[in-house]
Amino acid sequence: MLATTVTSALGQYPGWQQAVSYDMQATLDTASHQYQGVAKVTYKNNSPETLDKVFWHLFFNAFQPGSMMDVRSRTIEDPDRRVGSRIVELPEDEWGWIHMERVKAFGQDAEFEEDGTVLVVNLPKALRPGKSVTLELAWTAQVPRQIRRSGWMNKEGVEYSMTQWYPRLCEFDHHGWHSNPYIGREFHGIWGDFEVTLDVPEGYVVAATGVKTSEKSVDGPQGTPRTQSTYKAEDVIDFAWAADPDYMTETVAVGDVDLNLVHQANPEIDSNWTALAGYAAKAMAFINEDIGPYAYPQYTVVQGGDGGMEYPMITLITGERSLRSLVGVTVHEMAHSWFQAMVATNESLHEWMDEGFTSWAESRCMAHLFADPMKPSEDPHGWAYASYIRQHLSGNEEPLITHADHYKTNRAYGVGAYSKGEVLVEQLGAIVGPEARDAAMRRYFKEWSFKHPGPHDFKRVVERESGLELDWYFQDMMHTTNAVDYQVSGVQVHNDSAVVQLARLGDMAMPQDLTLTWEDGTTTSVHIPLVMMRGHRVLDDGEILGEDWPWVDPNYELALPTGGKRLKSVELNASGLVADVHPENDEIEFNLDLIQEALQSH
Ligand SMILES: [Zn+2]
Repeated sequence: MLATTVTSALGQYPGWQQAVSYDMQATLDTASHQYQGVAKVTYKNNSPETLDKVFWHLFFNAFQPGSMMDVRSRTIEDPDRRVGSRIVELPEDEWGWIHMERVKAFGQDAEFEEDGTVLVVNLPKALRPGKSVTLELAWTAQVPRQIRRSGWMNKEGVEYSMTQWYPRLCEFDHHGWHSNPYIGREFHGIWGDFEVTLDVPEGYVVAATGVKTSEKSVDGPQGTPRTQSTYKAEDVIDFAWAADPDYMTETVAVGDVDLNLVHQANPEIDSNWTALAGYAAKAMAFINEDIGPYAYPQYTVVQGGDGGMEYPMITLITGERSLRSLVGVTVHEMAHSWFQAMVATNESLHEWMDEGFTSWAESRCMAHLFADPMKPSEDPHGWAYASYIRQHLSGNEEPLITHADHYKTNRAYGVGAYSKGEVLVEQLGAIVGPEARDAAMRRYFKEWSFKHPGPHDFKRVVERESGLELDWYFQDMMHTTNAVDYQVSGVQVHNDSAVVQLARLGDMAMPQDLTLTWEDGTTTSVHIPLVMMRGHRVLDDGEILGEDWPWVDPNYELALPTGGKRLKSVELNASGLVADVHPENDEIEFNLDLIQEALQSH
């Protein structure tokens, strides 16, 4: 399923991506919380450039006083409560680190330098286009006390959350190297094949990315019994695992996929986790239909970490939650499989394409799982709209093109990536129509899985699906904090016609949907496209097409026949699809008796 030569239907992609395979072993000492690692990593340079260095992430080095993650956490205006000043307070034997002992490349010793959370390896000879190099690494690592995502002993007593745990080769693509220091947020990686052997004391239950291909008992130092299990995973951008002696596993099938739920045996949470299995299976079946088929043989939801964090084929979530919260976090992390694991945009640069698209898919899935016949009109995306609008009005919004680690506040990052990202997708329904939007998302997943697309690739898919031009939309939504604010500025009612005046008050243009409600309860709908869309969405039955609105004009007027009926209200954005930041000026309601008096007095 993975293409190293990338050609989209349009062929506009640069046409290559790097490839890697890891053959790795880790031997964990649970007394010191250290492990010994060895790896043979084969890296194929599919780029047209000759490389003389390769960069690796050493994420565990973030968990020591003075690291960039520590400094950032102590100086940002609104620190993540999970980190705060915990790193600087760690005793040395609870720090995290990875110390490289040896690196060989092309069979020769290679010079290397550890620079915080990044390892730079100078290749003893150049890696030319189309050629491969095998790198042999040996290192010692200390697993940090659990602070953020990975570590030993999380707050629920899970012993090992092993994420961001090994030297991970940085991605090199047509933009260059992506050797981001680990400060705390999003990731990017090369698709690769992993074969990982985990050697742990007997009695530990392991959950991991991939499929277990073997397990055997071995003798450790002083004859202590240990278990070695090997996992294989193909076409994944990362490999994560967790281990705890109290884990129990339940497995349900979703088609050919094994869905594993792994949690500590605990009478207080067991029944929630059993119920979760049913919801998780339904969720996966729903997203398979809604977005496209899940590509891997298994998915594991494991208790661990510090909230919820996605990895290929596995997620670590905290487990002592209400059922609804367990389902919510699981659906979110599972939905990441489509956007983080299979599509895999560079989440550091385009965090909204990962968190936002995931949140959008999550909201749809949650609405499906918890459909409430008593509240059929409840908007599954309402929370995202409200959160984005609140942040915009606060004046602290930052544009979505901001690098995930560089937002001034955690809040601006969170609302931008999750809420505005979700709004960006949902609001396309107001421009291209909900059906074309949904079809575009499916097409995007199908055409761009395993290819690391960027924003323009998504934009082109929506344009091709709808036949409309959308550069204006993505430009404003991604690169600016411009917002939409339209107003019904006036209505003149005559006996046989109503003249409606609209105004654009905000900086961002949007096509508008106008609904006139008549005294007898009937409605008239008008769709008003923008000139620069070069077309309009499919109209609903009976919907009237207004003249294109040239966005530069702050005002717009249209006259509609009343057919002798009295007008009750005039409303913009009745569907709520447009994130109009001042909905209070979107509607004019008439007191019919007053109007009647007014008409008679003239
Ligand atoms: Zn997420």
